[in-house]
Amino acid sequence: MKTSKLVMLSFLTVCLLSSLSAQVKMSPEQVLKLLKEGNERYTDQNRTYPNLNQERLTETSEHGQHPYATIIGCSDSRVPIEHIFDAGIGDIFVIRVAGNVVNTDEAGSIEYGVEHLHTPLFVVLGHSSCGAITAVATDAELHGNIPKLVENIKPAVTAAHEEHGEEFSEELLNTAIKNNVFQSIEDLFEKSQITKELVESGKLMVIGAIYHLNTGKVEWLGEHPKQEELVAN
Ligand SMILES: [Zn+2]
Repeated sequence: MKTSKLVMLSFLTVCLLSSLSAQVKMSPEQVLKLLKEGNERYTDQNRTYPNLNQERLTETSEHGQHPYATIIGCSDSRVPIEHIFDAGIGDIFVIRVAGNVVNTDEAGSIEYGVEHLHTPLFVVLGHSSCGAITAVATDAELHGNIPKLVENIKPAVTAAHEEHGEEFSEELLNTAIKNNVFQSIEDLFEKSQITKELVESGKLMVIGAIYHLNTGKVEWLGEHPKQEELVAN
């Protein structure tokens, strides 16, 4: 009797553990599909508001967090990351900072998501009409700690100027926003050996995306065009 109880207990423990780690075992492609479907529900006004009830609060407080993706986005109040992917509590490990830049603190937070929490997908999510990038592209006068923050954005704007000329334009801004997404990926690979190793081993996919404020749609940019080279360095 005692033995069979013990067997049953072990079986239940295995079931519980495997259900808890189910999200962890998803492939990067499966996670990307989840995010794409969530954004579709959001733009179609067909949201399900998942994982926001008391049951989820209890489950995540008792058994910890097992998010399926790590995402860094801009602090802009028009880019609420969980909302735009129709996700709930414990679903996405989110880092938000003006201009979605990756410096030391952001790289450390990303490492926590991809290495400690094992999310198989990391996304740098830029957005249209980004104020931080516009400030750099228009050479706006900045005060306090902001000049230091936007240092990270300057290479993206310089490259956009090379393509579109010195004058500010919508095209220039859009190119700078896209460049800045890839710049953040580059900065992460430069700062984080851990992330490079996870990408090389196939455990992690790192991609860029742009959120469009007017439609709510996420435009997927894919991996950095020079990822192989960046990861090998
Ligand atoms: Zn922004």
